[in-house]
Amino acid sequence: MQINADLHCHSTVSDGWLTPTDVVRRAAANSVALLALTDHDEVGGIDEACGEALRLGVRLLPGVEISVTFLKETVHVVGLGIDHRDRQLLEGLESVRSGRVQRARKMSAALDAAGIHGTFEGASRLARNPAMVGRAHFARYIVSTGLMPDVSTVFQYYLARGKPGYVEHEWASLDDAVRWIRGAGGVAVLAHPARYRLSTDELHRLLDRFVACGGEGIEVVAGAHTEAETVKFAAIARRWGLLASRASDFHGEGESSVDLGRSSNLPPDLTPVWTRFV
Ligand code: AMP
Ligand code: MN
Ligand code: MN
Ligand code: MN
Repeated sequence: MQINADLHCHSTVSDGWLTPTDVVRRAAANSVALLALTDHDEVGGIDEACGEALRLGVRLLPGVEISVTFLKETVHVVGLGIDHRDRQLLEGLESVRSGRVQRARKMSAALDAAGIHGTFEGASRLARNPAMVGRAHFARYIVSTGLMPDVSTVFQYYLARGKPGYVEHEWASLDDAVRWIRGAGGVAVLAHPARYRLSTDELHRLLDRFVACGGEGIEVVAGAHTEAETVKFAAIARRWGLLASRASDFHGEGESSVDLGRSSNLPPDLTPVWTRFV
């Protein structure tokens, strides 16, 4: 069953450009039937999004995208259909968020050393939710100074792992993230798997561990995936017995490769993760 489901996107509660209300409005305008708002490590936008979704007749799944450290790489796990008031989940997310501002100060110091100044203040000003200041806000600030043409170039030169502004950070463990999601009644989905810098062996270890601790889905169609990567991760979904998700990972116009609800369809033989919700 193909429906226009978009199960991963961001609002101003983390590093998206649109308020939760405007995310839902844009999704409705793009004929999205089932939407999940999945801000980074924070569920503070869900109630607002639910209100607008009810008004516009969009089905909204409460969601979250949890930052995880696995084999020193940052991996993202999306939780879909969570109870966003679950106490263990909320405490877990708070612990994940707690190091962000400190990390941002370290990033700013590292960028100072690389000759780019004032980035902590600049990025914090751009973050509607300063507790969630992240690399996207740093990138936008640096673009606003005229130093770099666009966000992806800033990542390429300064903010990607191994670049001068990158700071190692320990996020949640994979097991904890999946446990919080499941404890809140949600389905854990491995986000944009093609984005991780893992060897084939390491990727297989991630998948094995993810399934062993209760992960159930994987983004096969993701904003950051090429067609070839979709083919690759469709095969992985089959081999590991994972439900397939379709995800724009929309952050805002001009910054995302695909708009809300405009991703390609899932390969028809896969079981969509939304069969768990519709
Ligand atoms: P953070 O959680 O602060 O480390 O930031 C991660 C966010 O940075 C992602 O969710 C994206 O929004 C953004 N991001 C990461 N890598 C890139 C990239 N190569 N180009 C553009 N945005 C990126
Ligand atoms: Mn983001
Ligand atoms: Mn992500
Ligand atoms: Mn995302």
